[in-house]
Amino acid sequence: MKALQLSVHTGDPTIGEATEEARAAPASRGASAQSPAPVPLTTMDVVSRIVKNYLLPNAMVVTFAVVVNLAVGGLGSAVPVLVKELMEQVFDAKNAEFLPLISMAIIGLQGMVALGTYGSNVAMSFLGQWMVADVQRSLFGKIVESDLAWVQKTHSGRFISTFMTDVIRLRDATSQSIINLTRHLAKLIGLIAVMFYLDWIMATIATVIIPVAALFLRNLGKRTRKATGLSLEETGSLSTLISETLHGVRVVKAYGQERNEIDRASVTIERVLGHMMESIRAKAMASPITEALTGFGIAGVLYYSGSQVISGAMTSGEFTGFFTALMLAYQPLKALANQQVVLQEGVAAAERVFPQLDVEAKIVDGTDSKELKVSDGAISLDRVSFHYDDGTKALDNVTIDVPAGQTVALVGPSGAGKSTILNLVPRFYDVSEGTVSIDGQDLKSVTLASLRNASALVTQEPFLFDDTIRANIAYGSPDASQEEIEAAAQNAAAHDFILQLTHGYDTHVGEAGLKLSGGQRQRIAIARAMLKNAPILLLDEATSALDTASELQVQKALQTLMQGRTTLVIAHRLSTIMHADNIYVIDHGRVIEQGRHADLIAEGGVYAELSRSQFDRKEEPTPALAGE
Ligand code: ATP
Repeated sequence: MKALQLSVHTGDPTIGEATEEARAAPASRGASAQSPAPVPLTTMDVVSRIVKNYLLPNAMVVTFAVVVNLAVGGLGSAVPVLVKELMEQVFDAKNAEFLPLISMAIIGLQGMVALGTYGSNVAMSFLGQWMVADVQRSLFGKIVESDLAWVQKTHSGRFISTFMTDVIRLRDATSQSIINLTRHLAKLIGLIAVMFYLDWIMATIATVIIPVAALFLRNLGKRTRKATGLSLEETGSLSTLISETLHGVRVVKAYGQERNEIDRASVTIERVLGHMMESIRAKAMASPITEALTGFGIAGVLYYSGSQVISGAMTSGEFTGFFTALMLAYQPLKALANQQVVLQEGVAAAERVFPQLDVEAKIVDGTDSKELKVSDGAISLDRVSFHYDDGTKALDNVTIDVPAGQTVALVGPSGAGKSTILNLVPRFYDVSEGTVSIDGQDLKSVTLASLRNASALVTQEPFLFDDTIRANIAYGSPDASQEEIEAAAQNAAAHDFILQLTHGYDTHVGEAGLKLSGGQRQRIAIARAMLKNAPILLLDEATSALDTASELQVQKALQTLMQGRTTLVIAHRLSTIMHADNIYVIDHGRVIEQGRHADLIAEGGVYAELSRSQFDRKEEPTPALAGE
């Protein structure tokens, strides 16, 4: 019974129009993934930020990984020299003493390479996981500390995909880049040096393909970045879709939309697959390009070295050593050929992750913010106007006074601006114009912690965490004793039903409290507010969806909660606020009437009309929600 079907026109079309538009937006399924677009970043921006934020704080580990990787690469490049000696001493000179020596040298070398590879892999994994943990910690901090407006603008699925997918791409790109640019690069440089040491002409023939390969590989990075960006975007949409479908699974079933939802998911999955394949194709081209070009290098070297061996200008040891170096250079060359592609995948992920980490909260404590001192708890909204980020003007020049200890009710049709008013008091949003104050202190001048500590909010659809009833009641009061928790539950008319549950206060309430009924959830939320014992109570009164018995219990609990507190309540049923100290009728973001129930009825205006329409429906009488 949410809709109080009032239609009072205020004469300001902009308020009504924008409002309707904004309300229509969420209904559009196509607009479900309303998430900020990735912000283009240069490769240099990304690299320098990764170095500064994630590598420098782990300078010791990075240094260890780099040194070990360089050593592993360097040691790996010594193998051809050993092979050359083996050929010359054993095969050509038949030097038997040399055989065990060289075997031992190879065992020692490989042992060191293996040990170093292990050490550097562990160090690299630590760096990668540290980076993931750091980004996830920061992002989680942003979600809970940033402005509500930003969090609401971004779909939960988008956050989840950043947590689970984007950040992993970033990690992989970072660790792979470090391995490429240390271990593989060192090995390649070492092997090229060995080649030049053995024969500079053959070395020149062999390495001439490197700049040619680089030329071919240049564009692959760009293609991969674009495809990776698109695939991450679609993966985000998929997470959005999954989260939305899970939340709305009952609606999906009730409206027989299973097939449509499956089709929608299939389309997104297909798109993810398409972009992934595009990225994989671009990535997969790097190796064949390198391999094909290396074929030219090998053929050139073979042709030249073969003719040198035939003419006697080259020993078989030199030939074999050189050839070993050439073949060993293959793997690091392929890895480095992939580097641009790997890096650009990371940049695509960073373009999604970093902007979220860079969001700055606007509603924060100022340097001169003071503690809010609540003496009486009087709330005052003075000529307040407010519009949401998308331009929807929700409040226009609203003045409301809630004197200390009194109950003031907000009444009006759906979309009138009642919840917006309530949200301004704990500063979930800041006013666009005018001031909101408590006991004469402008809310913008007090610390957020002291402000939020002074008020308790009970929402229309109370949110419970997937935890025990005890933890849910004590949320916000973690030091509360069992006696205090039980006293709060008793006052909230929840104690009896809690004791009837199998595990009493230790019963887990399930995801979002779904194992409890609506009325039970409400009473747990009321107990939570009761335990907080704040002087100001913000109440989005929601008893209309409950059956009469539950409603009576919730009303009773609310009445107890309101005693001795300044209460601003959104009333959906007029019967519950008949005895409020003052009632404000809101429509299209403006106060159109105010007064006590009897005065407003006598005035014969909108409230009187509303009252008639509600009471004519012969509702079950409900206890009143106010002091008397
Ligand atoms: P109800 O009784 O249905 O809860 P209400 O009177 O509490 O309605 P509000 O939720 O305050 O109304 O909404 C006032 C106007 O602001 C509406 O037009 C609504 O569409 C718009 N609005 C609410 N929240 C947002 C938001 N986050 N972003 C943009 N517009 C919003």
